[in-house]
Amino acid sequence: MLLTNNLGYPRIGAQRELKKACEAFWSGKISRKELLEAGLKIRTSNWKIQQEMGIDLIPSNDFSFYDQVLDMTLMVGAIPQRYYNLAANKSAEHELELYFAMARGFQHDGIDVTAMEMTKWFDTNYHYLVPEFIKNQNFSLFSEKIINEYYEAKQLGIETKPVLVGPISYLLLGKEKEQGFNRLDLIDSLLPVYERIIEALKNYGVKWIQLDEPFLSLDLDDKTLALYKQVYKRLAKSTGGIKVIVATYFEGLKDNAEVALNLPVDALHIDLVRDRQQLETILRLIPEKLTLSLGVVDGRNIWKNNYDKSLELIDTATKKLGENRVWVAPSCSLLHVPCDLDNEDNEKTLPKEVKDWLAFAKQKLEEVKDLSVLAENRQESSPAYQHYIENQTSQERRRTSTLIHHIDVKERVATIADEDIQRKSTFPERKARQLETLKLPLFPTTTIGSFPQTKEVRSWRAKLKKGVITREEYDELIKEETKDAIKWQEDAGLDVLVHGEFERNDMVEYFGEQLQGYVFTKNGWVQSYGSRCVKPPVLFGDVSRTQDMTVYWTSYAQSLTSLPVKGMLTGPVTILQWSFVRDDQPRSETTFQIALAIRDEVLALEKAGIKIIQIDEPAIREGLPLRKADQRNYLNWAVKAFRLSAAGVADDRQIHTHMCYSEFNDIIADIAALDADVITIETSRSQMELLDAFANFNYPNDIGPGVYDIHSPRIPSKEEMILLLEKAKAVIDYKQLWVNPDCGLKTRAWPETKAALDAMVGAAKDLRSVKETV
Ligand code: GLN
Ligand code: ZN
Repeated sequence: MLLTNNLGYPRIGAQRELKKACEAFWSGKISRKELLEAGLKIRTSNWKIQQEMGIDLIPSNDFSFYDQVLDMTLMVGAIPQRYYNLAANKSAEHELELYFAMARGFQHDGIDVTAMEMTKWFDTNYHYLVPEFIKNQNFSLFSEKIINEYYEAKQLGIETKPVLVGPISYLLLGKEKEQGFNRLDLIDSLLPVYERIIEALKNYGVKWIQLDEPFLSLDLDDKTLALYKQVYKRLAKSTGGIKVIVATYFEGLKDNAEVALNLPVDALHIDLVRDRQQLETILRLIPEKLTLSLGVVDGRNIWKNNYDKSLELIDTATKKLGENRVWVAPSCSLLHVPCDLDNEDNEKTLPKEVKDWLAFAKQKLEEVKDLSVLAENRQESSPAYQHYIENQTSQERRRTSTLIHHIDVKERVATIADEDIQRKSTFPERKARQLETLKLPLFPTTTIGSFPQTKEVRSWRAKLKKGVITREEYDELIKEETKDAIKWQEDAGLDVLVHGEFERNDMVEYFGEQLQGYVFTKNGWVQSYGSRCVKPPVLFGDVSRTQDMTVYWTSYAQSLTSLPVKGMLTGPVTILQWSFVRDDQPRSETTFQIALAIRDEVLALEKAGIKIIQIDEPAIREGLPLRKADQRNYLNWAVKAFRLSAAGVADDRQIHTHMCYSEFNDIIADIAALDADVITIETSRSQMELLDAFANFNYPNDIGPGVYDIHSPRIPSKEEMILLLEKAKAVIDYKQLWVNPDCGLKTRAWPETKAALDAMVGAAKDLRSVKETV
């Protein structure tokens, strides 16, 4: 019989219970005990769902209160020195306190420590906390969460498969915090901890464990590949009695296939959604006895599986390996898709016709189960066969739907010309003209766009949706909030203002809601980082713009002040990247459609007299294909799409762009090719390290390196920001520098926002006065 294997289940809860519990705990509204209970409830429900679905290999330790990589860091005791004070007290209560301090920073009782750095998990919009390593890094078994959770499930009568990040991927996910060593050199001191864990799990009667090694499907040098062989050979000595699955995902194994297939483990999981072609090679090279877990159901997107296509793969595999050595699985952890389509009942935002094409986590497990049954038996009388017919019918309905295709949109993309992606003059010429119109000081200060989305602001939107208040009443409230924000920014002495984005629920959904080609879910939440979730809109058809999207609010804000207010738009690549995107045409084609819509909005803002327009592209880096060989092509169309959206304006209009968490070293030439007049970037958590790429490249346009981290409630001091700006000045010409936070402030509260921005403006003023006196 074909077994079904799940790699991970969404842990936020179908109604975002985890977010609510964590945030209530952080603000002191619920006790530690209540938080732990909320966690247990989610885990229990997840395990039961999977059991009911008939999943054979159900994961445990895929739950996390913040991040699974941080869990690993705590498990192996890689606690950075700045948390030692907090770590010294080793009680269960303090373990959680320490954990959240590492995740979010800690400012209390005379202790003031920053959070760990956060970065994107491969090419997803999930962020993990980056392990920090020193040369003489010690590892020791610190947290026993993995054991506890296995035991917890067992008590419920559910046998689970503990999941952990494999040792090589764990090291590769981290960062050296001092010079003179390579983090992979730490493997010898790390492995004993893995061996202890495995030993302990064995004693609890664990049958299978899953070691995630996503790096095995990326470009690897020979040394790392050789290390894979050594490490797994060594681990095999301690795993006797426990079976090991190595999980790879997000790419095909390609040239690493031979090494991956010959690791001394019991099963290998491969992602056949990202790389369908790899099956052939893998079946050719697979050694006897190895079980293959086929990732055929897309764990990264929400479209219904195409049973015919999946069964083709499964049949090919079973023909060669037999049914006992083939498992059916989602392509990766289901962390990246929403929980349950059954909770979607709003036909106005998600019409039945489109809902019929979708599957969320729970439905995906149903698909996995169906496929495993169908692979063995396609008898017309079986219930699975009924599902098979239904699946074929909805594939056909989607293919022939009249909602999807619009000739005029396709034609406009087909006729994009070279001059459409080129500003009229060069940057130095534009800068001169912009200085004339904008009259900005040195080290101009600005923010990234959003101001705190307080409970109240969000409650107005909820009331509007429920019909408790009218559109007019809602607009009045938003106007008041915007007015206060403008007034506050003027008083604070900021140079370039923003309207605050109070009218926006989310930077992508807001645009999606006004564009053709989109539908929306009510509860399609996906974890972004910690308690933060996003609800990606569903881009199902050709995209076009039929009305102004931002002109009203930007013009309103501009009418309140003589200082420039930035128009705020989300860029085409980010809109693509943060949506669930149709899979029936190339992503580049879809992005150009969005770019043309944004271009029209940019021109509408220009016409309305807005002088600075920011087109946010925080997701440009995460869209980069993981394999080098595919990157050039992506960068070409991504850069072209951005330029297409921006290049229509006159020279005296200033185009800004903003990016967060970006590692720019390898793509700096393309960032420069965007040709934005100003780029604001996230740099504070990495202490301006990111700026080196700009310095080395001699980046020509203006840059605003973020001077403080907005992901934590911690208030930075003026001195600390001056120090960062001094670091920036050391590598970038001061005339190119802007002063701004790392990112938008919508997740923050007003008191900390005001305090931090006051300090920031103070820092800019100090720098100016120094410049003016020399
Ligand atoms: N303008 C957006 C904001 O300030 C940018 C957010 C982002 O880059 N993620 O909220
Ligand atoms: Zn940002």
